[in-house]
Amino acid sequence: MLPWFDHKKPIIIAGPCSAESYEQLNECARELSSQGKTDVFRAGVWKPRTRPGHFEGVGETALQWLAEIRKTYNLPVITEIATPRHLEKVLKYGIDMVWIGARTTGNPFSINELVHALRGVDIPVLVKNPPNPDLDLWIGAIERLKNVGINRIAAIHRGFYPYRTSIYRNIPQWEIPIELKIRLPEIPVICDPSHIAGSQDRVFEVAQYAYNIMLDGLMIEVHPVPEKAITDALQQITPQRFSEIINQLQIRQQTGDQKLAILEQYRMQIDSIDQQLIELLGKRFEISHKIAEFKKQNNLAPFQINRWKQIIETRQEQSRVVGLNPDFILQLLQCIHKESIAVQNQIMSDHDDKKT
Ligand code: PEP
Ligand code: MN
Repeated sequence: MLPWFDHKKPIIIAGPCSAESYEQLNECARELSSQGKTDVFRAGVWKPRTRPGHFEGVGETALQWLAEIRKTYNLPVITEIATPRHLEKVLKYGIDMVWIGARTTGNPFSINELVHALRGVDIPVLVKNPPNPDLDLWIGAIERLKNVGINRIAAIHRGFYPYRTSIYRNIPQWEIPIELKIRLPEIPVICDPSHIAGSQDRVFEVAQYAYNIMLDGLMIEVHPVPEKAITDALQQITPQRFSEIINQLQIRQQTGDQKLAILEQYRMQIDSIDQQLIELLGKRFEISHKIAEFKKQNNLAPFQINRWKQIIETRQEQSRVVGLNPDFILQLLQCIHKESIAVQNQIMSDHDDKKT
């Protein structure tokens, strides 16, 4: 029976980033199936690559392999589709479920072509978030699927393009999947910790966070020999590690009270935003350090009145645009600026000390 979300237990999707060979796929499926912790086996057959000249997937041949695995291990299978032609092939080989990749979700033209082909087809569709943190674009893809009668739709949170340096390959911005749950409570949301983490050692931590905010399942990349993987080698984990992670993860209990549950969701959004505010402040102070070095070398004063005036004016204007009290922003900036000057003074005098 094809698993679908009953909210009793998270759904676990696992398997390699890409189908590379029958042996690789079979070994992975054999191990995952013997552990009994995988509900659906994943493998990418067509791979969207940022630059040309890289492995773009085995294509149709790999669908044949997936169909065999499905039969041998009695394990439902899922793959990525991006075009109506992909859908046609997937249906031909009896693939159980499909997911729509981040880059496809980000393009309403592609989504329109896909949903046109999906009209009247009874297959569960999982929709990854677009690469940029645009919740409406994500919801738009889900709505387009609903409009053509797809009734088993779930969302996959895989993080957002890191426009700033981050410990993650894709920044989770947890407030966005939480907002999706608030706006579309009937749509299950699972997390793909592999593409968020980008490294093996962060997969557990991200997966646990997803459980903490009551997401409905996980999609984890598992490869029999991760270091030999053709795609996403750094983030894929061995079946053994996968099993350990699933055992260690703590599933949280939903609070029985519906009102409290909403309050909890808002609080989790605040937590996520505060975490990003602190990361950004950390970045801001790194730059303050660089400025201090520069001022030291060029014998400039830490405090420059014109620059300070300009900061206050522009930020207060920005605060009006987003509906924040400019006096509050002034106080916040004064606080940050005071610390920044203190840090710069410290750095400049450290250097003076060293010189003497
Ligand atoms: C994948 O799941 O391997 C993949 C290509 O993901 P995304 O679309 O999230 O980049
Ligand atoms: Mn991948």
